[in-house]
Amino acid sequence: MTTRRVSILGATGSVGKSTLDLIERDPERFEVVALTAASNVAALADAALRTNAKLAVISDPALLPELERRLIKSSCRAATGKEALSEAAAGDADWVMAAIVGCAGLEPVMAAIEAGRTVALANKESLVTAGALMTEAASRSGATILPVDSEHNAICQCLADNSLGDVSRLVLTASGGPFRTKSRDEMAAMTPEQAVAHPNWTMGAKISVDSATMMNKGLELIEAHHLFGLPSDRIEILVHPQSVIHSMVEYIDGSVLAQLGSPDMRIPIAHALAWPERMDTPAQRLDFAGIGSLTFESPDYERFPALRSARGALEAGGAAPIILNAANEVAVAAFLARKIGFLDIVRTVEDTVTRTNAVAPRSIAEVIDIDREARALANHLMREMAA
Ligand code: NAD
Ligand code: MG
Repeated sequence: MTTRRVSILGATGSVGKSTLDLIERDPERFEVVALTAASNVAALADAALRTNAKLAVISDPALLPELERRLIKSSCRAATGKEALSEAAAGDADWVMAAIVGCAGLEPVMAAIEAGRTVALANKESLVTAGALMTEAASRSGATILPVDSEHNAICQCLADNSLGDVSRLVLTASGGPFRTKSRDEMAAMTPEQAVAHPNWTMGAKISVDSATMMNKGLELIEAHHLFGLPSDRIEILVHPQSVIHSMVEYIDGSVLAQLGSPDMRIPIAHALAWPERMDTPAQRLDFAGIGSLTFESPDYERFPALRSARGALEAGGAAPIILNAANEVAVAAFLARKIGFLDIVRTVEDTVTRTNAVAPRSIAEVIDIDREARALANHLMREMAA
């Protein structure tokens, strides 16, 4: 077995830490090239020292001196800035974990794709905003995109060597989030603490709020479209509160293949880390008799209008998914900062999408422009809402 040279973008986050955990359990198999973080300098330096990383990149430039100080006795180089982030993404590693949250991850992900790397993609917002540009760049450079999002990783495993032409539909499962059984009136009063308390998964704050609004499943619908090339009407969303089946593929002959496992992100991450082989993980094994039964429900588009907005954005195409994602990012941040209520998140997204009319981007620079304008409009609409 050859050593895999890996870099982790967003090494201090939930997915980044799970990736480090797996790598550190199997040090013979992996060599860490670069690690990056937004501002958690202590956790970044600590991980770089533990793994003998060659490069550590901190996005906040004010924290560079502290990173340098913490790494002074090691051979790890400390850096900051856009170029350093691109170097971490497209440098010496052959496998790159894209685990930055939000559209902020887009440029480094593109750098890794253009350099022809194997990209383990957790950062769904990059596919939502620039899916077509990313998949085109990957076919030009020969890069491989391995989905890490548990649903898309499940679909990837269920597709195996089968032809996409034999697939009749994809079934994306959703836990329904912490407010699955709540009424709209009850949701209106929900706090950030209640929204981030996911029943099955432990994740970063943004994706946890997205799970509560079900925008997460909406973003995943768009993500699935870009990864597997199927249109909206062949990607179904199914609520499955136990989160045991992570998604399914139905074939033209009526066979349905599903991937199952405990809700532990180390399972899909390990699939991508060892791909095309397999590796051991400490994830809990399923006890089927203990679980007893698996249940399913249709999603409620009235209580969870985010699903409708996201499906609408996918079907509208063009810049709509970028605007949807940008408005959602700023609205989730405002909700977490207690500036708007829970139901205002999707209200802001809907208002921003209906008031914007941008054409499909032809480049990443255009994606970033559309994203910036949509954020400004969403912020303006939230201020109006509060007045
Ligand atoms: P997180 O908030 O826990 O971690 C985010 C990481 O990105 C951190 O290392 C942070 O330092 C870095 N980061 C944040 N903003 C940045 C910026 N502006 N510039 C550079 N770096 C920045 O998030 P997470 O839950 O690990 O999620 C990461 C991505 O993976 C998201 O796109 C999420 O949707 C996706 N994902 C996460 C899970 C999960 O279980 N956590 C599951 C599926 C998909
Ligand atoms: Mg998911």
